[in-house]
Amino acid sequence: MNDTIAAISTALGVGAISIIRVSGDSAVSIVNKIFKGKNLEEVPSHTIHYGQIVDHDTPIDEVLVTVMRSPKTFTREDIVEINCHGGIAPTNKVLELVLKNGARLAEAGEFTKRAFLNGRIDLTQAESIMDLISSKTESNRKVAMKGLTGHVSNMIRSLRQKILELLASIEVNIDYPEYEDAVVMTTEKVAPEIKKILNELNHIIQESENGKILTSGIKTVIVGKPNVGKSSILNRLLDEDKAIVTSIEGTTRDIIEGNITINGVALNLIDTAGIHETEDIIEKIGVDKSLQLIPEADLVILVLNQNEKLSDEDRRIFSVCDNKKTIIVLNKSDLEKRIEEDQLPYSNIIYTNTVEDTGIEPLKNKICELFHLEQLDQQDFSYLNNIRQISLAKEAYSILEEVMDGIQQEIPIDMIEIDIKRAWEKLGEILGESYSEELIDQLFSQFCLGK
Ligand code: GDP
Repeated sequence: MNDTIAAISTALGVGAISIIRVSGDSAVSIVNKIFKGKNLEEVPSHTIHYGQIVDHDTPIDEVLVTVMRSPKTFTREDIVEINCHGGIAPTNKVLELVLKNGARLAEAGEFTKRAFLNGRIDLTQAESIMDLISSKTESNRKVAMKGLTGHVSNMIRSLRQKILELLASIEVNIDYPEYEDAVVMTTEKVAPEIKKILNELNHIIQESENGKILTSGIKTVIVGKPNVGKSSILNRLLDEDKAIVTSIEGTTRDIIEGNITINGVALNLIDTAGIHETEDIIEKIGVDKSLQLIPEADLVILVLNQNEKLSDEDRRIFSVCDNKKTIIVLNKSDLEKRIEEDQLPYSNIIYTNTVEDTGIEPLKNKICELFHLEQLDQQDFSYLNNIRQISLAKEAYSILEEVMDGIQQEIPIDMIEIDIKRAWEKLGEILGESYSEELIDQLFSQFCLGK
């Protein structure tokens, strides 16, 4: 028997109502002890009741109580939700009474953990709940909802089903070689099936990698020599004075961050210190940091002062930006032009003048174009939505690649079968079909209290 847990499920503060959620075998009897109104033990499931929460005979708050009996509940256990007035004192007092009468305070994420352990949701859905709660943009929300409604799980389930069918045919062959109706599963027959599964899995991984920008945003670094106008561009993008703009070379010594949203996608901007050979130790640290940030970035905004001729240092920055989505911003377009476009290694070029605020909209449009943000609405948002899921999919993919190698090296089918099974299990880990206690504790502890 599970103990009964309780927590405040709404944000604690002054509001119209707060909800205290109680889940477990004794949820109804515990709340019934402190509820004055109907006898909650006798009411039908999924009904709401008006009454008072009382401490012995003293009324504490006027409430509405929802009674939901197992198994059609979020945790699959009996759940009672008390809607009380949303002040800090009444909410805490009601929770205190629930705890005094036999419930235990829930840990962070414990309701969702129970929903998972009781088979109500799988692990990708549990993670989507967390994503939904913390989603900041419309596309975050859409990706999380796709996960929650089981689209992501179904993609993985269907792949696993195909692998399972393959495994079953191989086993029939191994266990009953005399069984004539079964198709003989030679490695030549297995290879094209594995190839199809590999293609499908590859597609899911690729799409999910692209989809990552919807959940985690576009990590953008602004780089360039000191004094070219990086901080001014950051300011214009952010529309506020977060970065300090001055004309002393190397002012932006450390890293300044900010976020904007373009077409519902977060752009996480980092303004780095000027990339510039210098004796100044603090500036040097900043410069090194900025060079280190480039490989991690999804997008590099490389700022040049178009009033100055290209220098070797600019060319050094170019070489670090290779293989990155890079936009060259030719700033100070109000001044005389001293850089020709054919001297530049990238074709995405935007002219800006931060004094008169020109070129910022075209810069945003260019970002939209590079990441296909206009077409986001047409995407179906079914992605593996975190690193855990993507890396498990990648592991399954490389196991299946090993299987293909094995087939080419004419390894016997029963040996190959072992690896196919491993891939099937890896995909199962995405859904939480097999898991370690440690992983589960760690995942659910990231939730907020009361969820
Ligand atoms: P950072 O060191 O690259 O971050 O450069 P800042 O943003 O601090 O700008 C350096 C100097 O250039 C400041 O004095 C700005 O006012 C000036 N500046 C920035 N953008 C422009 C521009 O478009 N035109 C002109 N004429 N000056 C600019």
